[in-house]
Formats: sequence, structure tokens, C-alpha cells
Amino acid sequence: MSGWLVMGSRRVPCTVRRTKRSTLELAVHPDGSVVVTAPENASDERIRALVGKRMRWLRAQLERFESLPVPPPPRRYQSGETHRYLGRQYRLRVRRGRTDSVRLEGVLLVVTTTSPSDRQRVRLLVEGWYMTRASAVLGARLAHCIHKWRAAQLSAPTLAIRRMARRWGSCSPAGRVTLNVDLVKVPTACIDYVIVHELCHLRALNHGREFRTLLARRMPDWERRRDKLDRQEV
Ligand SMILES: [Zn+2]
Repeated sequence: MSGWLVMGSRRVPCTVRRTKRSTLELAVHPDGSVVVTAPENASDERIRALVGKRMRWLRAQLERFESLPVPPPPRRYQSGETHRYLGRQYRLRVRRGRTDSVRLEGVLLVVTTTSPSDRQRVRLLVEGWYMTRASAVLGARLAHCIHKWRAAQLSAPTLAIRRMARRWGSCSPAGRVTLNVDLVKVPTACIDYVIVHELCHLRALNHGREFRTLLARRMPDWERRRDKLDRQEV
């Protein structure tokens, strides 16, 4: 059962994937396609019934993805380009100097290097700077979020920061939280949303009722923060 889902006047591509798992799951991908993961023995009727029941949710997800900004063109690492840090825009300025360094100066992100025309080198310097800032900022935000949580005695998870292609963060069953280095480019309110979301996963691994109740209690305005995060260009 793969094909199209008719939603009002539109047709949405829908794929059914059969797996060995025992639960039915529905996902909307950012490209606007719907994927149903179903047990091998689930009947088409059962799948249709689930999709029918979740129609309102599906529509809301699709609208959310449609309102997202178009991703910016790939960076060239030349002077004049816009880069972001904690939700603010900075203009890249590449200067020649005796040693390599990166720092913020007012509205500028200043890269000083012995070879300013070497864009690969400038890219590595900028990426290194983001990684250093991410370690400091995300570590501090995690400590802040755990401090606020203290009533429930949450033990601090191990934090890893890496480049992640499509996610802002993840949490392993062993209690390790991984955050995307690009998170340091968005406002603090959005960083805290991702961290609290992952901290909730220490208690509930999937996005079921327990998870949603916990998230709503820990961060009542999480939806506003998530919507803001969705609108960020990094
Ligand atoms: Zn999650």
C-alpha cells in the first residue's frame, strides 16, 4: 500500500515500510512525504485506520514543513558573507595576519590567517571556532537546564557535540546526549528547548504520552520555541 494520500485538494506521497517491529508508526519527512512503518502482518485496513485517525496531526506537520525557510546557499568563506551565532548575524571579514585566529568584533566575525585566499583554510578555522564556542555554550546551557530540573533529581548525562546532518540532538538509552554543533548558531531559547527535549528522553525514550506530559511540565512554552527553531537559518 504505497501511493498517494488525498488530503482535501492535495495529494501527498505516502510509502508503507514493513518491518519486524510490532507497532505502527507515522512520520512526515521535511520533503512533504509521509512514511508509515508497519509490522509485516498489519492489514491495509489497520494502516488506513491509523492514517485516518492521525489526519489532523499529519496536516499540521505538513503545514509546519511548508512554512520553513529555504536553506541558504552553501558558504564560500569569503569576506562579506553572513554567519550566525546565538541567533545573531555576523559578517565574515577575512584578514591577513601572522597567525591564525577567529573572533567576534562588533557585527563582524573576523578570521585572521596567513593565507586569506585559501577558502578551505578559512572554512576549517570558522568550523573550529564554532566547535569551541559550541562546547562552551552548549555545556553551560545543559548545566543550566539540569540545575532548573533539580527537584526531580536528574543526574547529568554525558554530553557529546558533533556535526549532525538532520537532527538538532539525540539521546541514547545509556543516557548520553549528543547535540548538533550548529545549535550554537540559534538563539538560547531554542538551544534550551532542544536540551530539555533530550533530557526528557532520559525518562521516556519515544515521543509517547509520558514524554509529552514531561516536556509540557518542564517547558510549558516548548511549541513556541520549536517553531522559532524551525524558522532559523543556520
Ligand atoms: Zn525526541
